[in-house]
Amino acid sequence: MILLDGKKTSAEIKEEIAIEVAKLKEQGKKTPHLAAILVGNDGASRTYVNAKVKACEKVGFNSTLVRLEDTISEEELLSEINKLNTNNDIDGFIVQLPLPKHIDEQKVLMAVNPDKDVDGFHPTNVGKMTLNLPTFLPATPAGILELLERYNVETSGKNVVVIGRSHIVGSPMSILLSQKRTVGNATVTITHSRTKNLEAFTKEADIVVVALGVAEFLKGDMVKDGVVVIDVGITRVDDATKKNGFRLLGDVHFESVAPKASYITPVPGGVGPMTIAMLMKNTLLARERSEA
Ligand code: NAD
Repeated sequence: MILLDGKKTSAEIKEEIAIEVAKLKEQGKKTPHLAAILVGNDGASRTYVNAKVKACEKVGFNSTLVRLEDTISEEELLSEINKLNTNNDIDGFIVQLPLPKHIDEQKVLMAVNPDKDVDGFHPTNVGKMTLNLPTFLPATPAGILELLERYNVETSGKNVVVIGRSHIVGSPMSILLSQKRTVGNATVTITHSRTKNLEAFTKEADIVVVALGVAEFLKGDMVKDGVVVIDVGITRVDDATKKNGFRLLGDVHFESVAPKASYITPVPGGVGPMTIAMLMKNTLLARERSEA
């Protein structure tokens, strides 16, 4: 079994980006600048945004964190987005999800200028991705493609089962892996909460991407020997022995699945850090595109 080490790989990617940024600076060009909007005080969201800001520092980007109260109206949030859309110093920005219930997430994502949409969530960019045109790929699926590529995991002609059909992970993952691309050309089955007899699919899969948000859902008896397993899930569970009072669990029951797997991502240290590295990559791309 080979561990797909997202921590190590993402550090390599960030180093590559840092070299590009240093070159830009040497040439007297503008430093890439990523902004993040964080609404409210959710612990997990705060952790993710802080990790993104830290990654910006690591690669030499400028970063701006816009923190807003969870009582903010939809209209006020849209106006904050418009400020970032029209601020020429900001190359790309993200709106950390989830948003409070009273705000229409789709409306917010649609308000982001597609040229600055480094999360790749705007319908224009989703459309381009679906047509396999150059665009900002959503960071988590892009991170998975990158990890598979760097570990030379063959996907062409393989049976892939994706568990979960969210707009940010499962759905784009299934589209990308089925496309004609370096990591792609797979035969993909997308499964979800209404799928009957899920095990019948996972047992036949050469690669399983698990993104449903149920801790330790995929067990060893649901997969075949030699399977490649990508665990996207992140669930916080209370753990008094930890300094912060919790630990993270993936959607895969690692103990029973890992012995059967040829490759597997750990949680933490797998897909999570790759997601952040790909956000940095998209921000660099946004900077380069606005130069062109
Ligand atoms: P979501 O919560 O939006 O959707 C879950 C999906 O799982 C749905 O499509 C649903 O149909 C499916 N599902 C639910 N129960 C199921 C079942 N019993 N069998 C089959 N399918 C089922 O999902 P999301 O936003 O993609 O998040 C999934 C998990 O991934 C969460 O734990 C989230 O925290 C994590 N996540 C991690 C990263 C990362 O960078 N590592 C990024 C995004 C999300």
